Parts: sequence; structure tokens; C-alpha cells
Amino acid sequence: MARFSGFGVTFKQMFKPRITGFYPKEKREKPERFHGRHVLNRYEDGMEKCIGCELCAGVCPAKCIYVRGADNSPDSPVSPGERFGFVYEINYLRCIHCDMCVEACPTEAITETKLFEFSFANRADAIYTKEELLVDDEGRAKRQPWELWLGGEDDKTSAWMRATSSSGDADYEGRVNWSGELGFGVREPEQGQSL
Ligand code: SF4
Ligand code: SF4
Repeated sequence: MARFSGFGVTFKQMFKPRITGFYPKEKREKPERFHGRHVLNRYEDGMEKCIGCELCAGVCPAKCIYVRGADNSPDSPVSPGERFGFVYEINYLRCIHCDMCVEACPTEAITETKLFEFSFANRADAIYTKEELLVDDEGRAKRQPWELWLGGEDDKTSAWMRATSSSGDADYEGRVNWSGELGFGVREPEQGQSL
């Protein structure tokens, strides 16, 4: 009898709505704050936001960020202020996408895209350099040959920044407390938590 009740379970499943899709041709929409591979952002005037302070590297629990800052030249500064990120690397063989680096960054320089579909054939590709992480002249992530981009993964790169407040305080709802980004300007705040 137990055998037939087992068939009954299978039979019931056959009429339930299907949750599997035709991946990768069809992809589910990702949550607004989904954590994918990083980008290094620039201000609207093209200046780099990273000031080489190394806070992201210090807070990273996986120890996968390497930063070396350098002084800006007064004649051709790379970022506003005294210093910029001269060397910046993230090792994706170690990153756990916890976003602690994003939280620690004082200038919103490092944020995450929604892209998680990438694999490497060698170690050098897995270590993203500053050149690879820095957004292009439209403020978009630079797509690497080993990454699967099907569209939309870099639309909300600063989603975490658009939270109404990090502590969830409803008093901050709708307030914009972040700087403009190259290609996007000042992004709209997320929908408030009261909705
Ligand atoms: S997401 Fe987490 S593990 Fe990855 S680089 Fe940032 S702090 Fe390190
Ligand atoms: S990404 Fe942010 S936290 Fe990391 S070195 Fe640059 S400015 Fe500092």
C-alpha cells in the first residue's frame, strides 16, 4: 500500500505549476540587492570614486581584495582628494559576495552587479584587475570574455546604496544620500519599506 501512496505523491506533483525555466535563455529577474561581481564606479565627471583608503580590503572576511593607494598628481588627478586606488584587485576564487566591502567603502566606489555567471580556465582571469573592474565611459561594467551577460545585470549596480537606510529606519525613506554616477546620474531611491 505504501508503494501506491508513493505514486500518489508523484502524480500530484505532475499538476503543479512548473518552476523550472529554459535557463540560460530565460532568466528569472534578480532581486534588487542581489550580490554579483563588483564594479569600481566613477563620478559623473569621469573621476574615479576610489580613494585608495583600503577599508574594503581591511573588512573583507575572505581577504580577497588587494588595494594600493597612491597620491594624486595636482595636474592630472584620478580621483577627487589626495589619493586614488593605484592597484585594485579582487580574487574571485575567494570572494563570498558578502558585500562587506560595499558597506565599508566611504565613497560608494565599490558596488556589485547582478552578474554571477562566470567561470575561469586559469587563475589570472579569476583575479580581476582595476582595469577590468572600473566601469567604462558610459558607467557600465566592462564585460569580460568569460562572463555570460544576457542583459540587465548591470542596471542596478548600486542597489545596496539605494536602500532607504542601512539600519532600516523609515525616517530615511526616499532620501538620497549618495553621489551621482557616470552614465546614471543620481539614482532613484528604492521603494520604501512601508510599501
Ligand atoms: S563581497 Fe565580501 S568576500 Fe567579496 S570582496 Fe567584498 S568583502 Fe570580500
Ligand atoms: S573601494 Fe572604497 S573602501 Fe576600497 S579602497 Fe577604494 S575608496 Fe577605499
